[in-house]
Parts: sequence; C-alpha cells; structure tokens
Amino acid sequence: MARFGSLALTLVTFVMVVGDAAAGGGGAVAPGPPDVNTISCLSGSVCRSDDTVVRGQELIVRGRNLVSVKRVVFTGARGAGDDATAAVDRTSERSAVAVVPADAQTGPVVLQGSSKSPLARVERVKVRPAPKVKPLDISPGSSFYFGGRRKATFEFTVDRPADVLVELVDVDNQATVGTWDVAARPGVARRIRWNGKVRGGAAGTGRYSFRLAAPASASAKAVPEATTAFFFADHLFPIRGPHDLGQTPTNNFGGGGTRTHYGQDMFAKCGAKLAAARGGEVQFAGYHSAAGNYVVIDGAGTGHDYVYMHLLETPLVKTGDRVFTGQKIGEVGETGRASGCHLHFEMWSAPGWYEGGRAFDPLPALRIWDRNS
Ligand SMILES: [Zn+2]
Repeated sequence: MARFGSLALTLVTFVMVVGDAAAGGGGAVAPGPPDVNTISCLSGSVCRSDDTVVRGQELIVRGRNLVSVKRVVFTGARGAGDDATAAVDRTSERSAVAVVPADAQTGPVVLQGSSKSPLARVERVKVRPAPKVKPLDISPGSSFYFGGRRKATFEFTVDRPADVLVELVDVDNQATVGTWDVAARPGVARRIRWNGKVRGGAAGTGRYSFRLAAPASASAKAVPEATTAFFFADHLFPIRGPHDLGQTPTNNFGGGGTRTHYGQDMFAKCGAKLAAARGGEVQFAGYHSAAGNYVVIDGAGTGHDYVYMHLLETPLVKTGDRVFTGQKIGEVGETGRASGCHLHFEMWSAPGWYEGGRAFDPLPALRIWDRNS
C-alpha cells in the first residue's frame, strides 16, 4: 500500500512539471468561476438523487473550480428571512462539503466565496427533514474496565437513512476522545461498542459519555450527557471483598528493609474472590513451594506482568489462557510460604517476571485501583 502511494505521488509530480513547461513559465493561471454539476448527499445511503439533501447531514457540491467556495446558502422560497447558511468544511478542485443547516429550506442555493457575492447558483435543491435518532441503550451509571468482558455500548435506531456521528466525551475536561461515523437504516438497531482504547492506548480512569454529534437536530438534546455518563477504569482492584493494603512495613515492597520482598501483602478473608486486575495472557499458573498456588498474567497493552500468590486452591486459569479484566482467577489463601490468608501481589516491568523485567512497588497503583473499584 505504501509503495503504491509513493508511486502515485511520483506521477502527480511528473504531471505538474510537464504542466509548468507547457504554460511556458508564465506563472499560475487564475481559476475560472465555480461550475456546479450537482449538489447531493455526501453519503449515497442517505439519499440517492441529485439536487436533494438532508438537514443535519453532509452535502457535497460536485463540479469544477470549487476550491474558493466558502459558504453554501439555502435561500428558501421567501426573501432573505428564511436564508440558511452552511460554512464549507473542506473543498477540492472538484468538490465542496458542508453540513446542511437544521433550518435549510427547499429552493435556490447560492455558493459564496470569501465575500458574500454569489459565485454560482443552483435553481432548486430539495431539502428533506433531519432523521430522528433514538438512543436505546446508553449504559448509564455502569462501570467498565479496560480488557473487561463488558464493553461500554451506545445503541440507537433511526427513522430514515442517516449518517450518524457519535462522539465519546471525557466528562471531566469535555475532550472528544473517540468518534464513530455510522451509516444507519430504519428498522435496524446499530450498536457502538467501546473497548476502552483511545489514540495512544488505554483511556485514563474517569467518567465518559456518548454524545450524538450528528444529525444536528433536536434529537441531540434528547441525550443529556449527565444521564449517559459511565465510569471507566484501566484496572480493577484484585481482591473483591473486604481487605487491607498491608499491616506492617514487612508487608510492603522491599519488606521494610528486613527481607527481600518483591510485592505487596494484602490481607482478606480466606476464600475472598480474586480477579485479574488487568486482563491478558496467563504466562504461568501452577504451584511453587514458596509462592503456593500462583498466577502470572501478561497484562494486555501494558508490557507489565501481574503476579498473584498464595491462592487457596489450584488457579481457575491455565498457562496460555486469555483472561478478561475482572475475571475470577482464584481465591485468597495461604498456600506456600504464608501465614494468614493474604494476596501477595507483584508487578514487573517489561519483558516481565523472571524474563529480564524488574519488580517495582505496586502499592501506588493498588491504592488508586482500590479507590476506584
Ligand atoms: Zn508477600
């Protein structure tokens, strides 16, 4: 693909050089006025006929010399009072794209450049009403975890064909962290599933919300963000029941200086459920005289290994298994060299546990996960 792309680029360069030569070095030739062939829905699934567009959906002007087009004005049937103007989002020599205003009316359409004088005119463009988008399932109030079995979902139906643009918003800073452009048809519910990824990896822990960005219509207001907000975290605290984070300095990473101790000891009732703090691939699951029943998971997307020791029984997962964040891997116990039921938990940097990585203090991370889950 990359090779093909660079070949195309080379061809374009070549043509431009020939073009300059043919012009005799006389400099750039000013483009002529815009020449419009058609105005229609950008998406052929929204409407098929030329000179028909839909409110709140993208339109495309096709023709020549369109680079200078800045605005598309729907002049409507009566005077200037019902004019509706759309700013052009992007242009090329042969196309210009804009979103049809919510108050656009059927009638003549005028294209404007940087000044308001008309550059071109189309006698009649039919404007159809905006599709209505009805959200069905917005996972309100739920919690989701990176790599978890359940994904945050947004499900909706439409009453007529539409390109629906859904945004995922970080509620705290109102940043848009994801977008989905979905071609939807009436009678078929569409579902967006978010896997917790944003550009650059796992999304940060916090509150998120789905938001309808298009069609731009009253239906957008039907999804107030506050009610669709959900909680997302990149890890889950592994002990799913009452616990502490250690009782003496000897429970800490480094053993309070009195011994070699690569993890954090956290006490809980024997039999308390143990879940994977981060899903991934099980690297080891077995028994060792000191570790007792233990599990090592290569955490998906982290490079880190997560180690769980002294499990009550044989682990519920096997070497090579894929596990979800939050999946039960066993129960708190005191097998191996342990006194009192507790989880000995380790974290190792890449490439991992006894593979060249280094153990590091997991307590700062554990405190955060404990607060959030
Ligand atoms: Zn320990």
